[in-house]
Amino acid sequence: MRRFQLFIDGEFSDGEDWFEDVNPATGEVIAQVAEAGVGDVDRSVAAARRALDGPWGKMDVQQRGNLLSQVADRILQRFDEFLEAEILDTGKPRAWAEAVDIPRGAANFRIFADQAKSFGSDAYLQSTADGRGAVNYVQRVPLGVVGVICPWNLPLLLMTWKVAPALAAGNTLVVKPSEETPATATLLAEVMSEVGLPPGVFNLVHGFGPGSAGEAITSHPDVAAVTFTGESTTGAAIMKTTADSIKKLSFELGGKNPAIVFDDANFDNAVQGTLRSVFANCGQVCLCSERVYVQRSIYDRFVDALAAGARALRHGDPFAPDTQIGPLISEEHRQKVLAYYALAREEGAEVVCGGAVPELGRTWDGGSWIEPTIWTGLPESARCVKEEVFGPVCHVAPFDDEDQVIAMANDTDYGLAAAVWTSEVSRAHRVAQRIEAGIVWVNCWFLRDLRTPFGGVKLSGIGREGGVHSLNFYSELKNICIKL
Ligand code: NAD
Repeated sequence: MRRFQLFIDGEFSDGEDWFEDVNPATGEVIAQVAEAGVGDVDRSVAAARRALDGPWGKMDVQQRGNLLSQVADRILQRFDEFLEAEILDTGKPRAWAEAVDIPRGAANFRIFADQAKSFGSDAYLQSTADGRGAVNYVQRVPLGVVGVICPWNLPLLLMTWKVAPALAAGNTLVVKPSEETPATATLLAEVMSEVGLPPGVFNLVHGFGPGSAGEAITSHPDVAAVTFTGESTTGAAIMKTTADSIKKLSFELGGKNPAIVFDDANFDNAVQGTLRSVFANCGQVCLCSERVYVQRSIYDRFVDALAAGARALRHGDPFAPDTQIGPLISEEHRQKVLAYYALAREEGAEVVCGGAVPELGRTWDGGSWIEPTIWTGLPESARCVKEEVFGPVCHVAPFDDEDQVIAMANDTDYGLAAAVWTSEVSRAHRVAQRIEAGIVWVNCWFLRDLRTPFGGVKLSGIGREGGVHSLNFYSELKNICIKL
């Protein structure tokens, strides 16, 4: 049985206990994972502090950037190992992991290495009463030791989305992957060691949230900032824990994202795009559409086409190249999603397709498989229309005009992303500008330029990641004023 250890101060070590890593496609235990205790987190923070004061703190941005480019190269050299580890941990289909998770994990290091190298700062010449003047210039200073806490849905991609810019900006890190997905994070620790990152710069602790490694990081007095992606309720808990020590926070949280389909949209593109935005990664992407609004004149035809597409999605061996939909991340999560499937019926939904557990045969019986599901007929006030399910499911509702659908789309506590499907250019701009969300896609979904700001409003988060926005979060700006 494989063992995933902690990585502290450049060394792999055991923790205070062990917990099991389960393959959600089969239900089999695939590894034992070392659980970090408070003492392990203390050692990690102390090592990170020493690295900051030592070799890492003395490197310039070019040297740091060169090391991060080597991390990208090494991930690509070990691509197949990362791919296998990610598929075993999550059950996600090979086609998705091969095209998204692993290449993006590597790309994050390259893009932030390049970005940091060319990132300038403000300078001002100032007049003074004595006529001699002054020069102000802004220095970018690392925050210090940053706590990085990650979810399970895109494990390597979302971890590196934080780790790469935080390191490029000169910080040192204590990183905690989700307890569900320890594997690629452990491989990343090996890569950090292989490329010669100084000990203590990247520390990896496995474990859980409250009362475990997660809380030990967020409550640690020497951790300067916490960057977190996960549920909104967890974000609220972390905010409380970090309040006393006034840590800087970056939060990427949940969503209940709308997709809006106008009758002037290219019908087939809108159907295919919505199939992706609802069911990608078994609905376990924070950006997935869980509320689909379709203009009344095409509503029936659209629901039929979407349901036909959902029924045709192929479950199966995640390693097979033609598998289109994997299992949910765990049995616990499947129970949560099935509870929403039951609640939808109680709330009066018509189940257009899905709604149950598929029968896939003996190999997969122990896995957390679930049917892609479409509901119609719920009032906008229903819990299933309001709460994030985080599974392969959407509610489809008709609308009549632009103002009405914008009001429906914005009637949510969340504000992460939206997708708008229309062929009319003016309408695309009008609607996109009125949606309350951090990201609006028009005639596409999940198309990411990594330099653009990424993040949410309301319960969906605080701050923006991506390009210079990440580098700004991971730096303090210090003004130096020199009287001439
Ligand atoms: P989660 O909040 O349950 O866990 C995320 C991480 O936080 C895990 O590592 C967990 O161990 C840790 N954690 C839990 N409680 C903690 C505590 N009290 N203190 C410190 N750490 C704690 O989220 P999840 O189930 O792993 O991920 C799914 C959620 O993440 C969904 O809500 C999804 O929308 C959201 N998400 C958001 C984005 C985004 O970019 N906005 C991206 C991916 C996922």
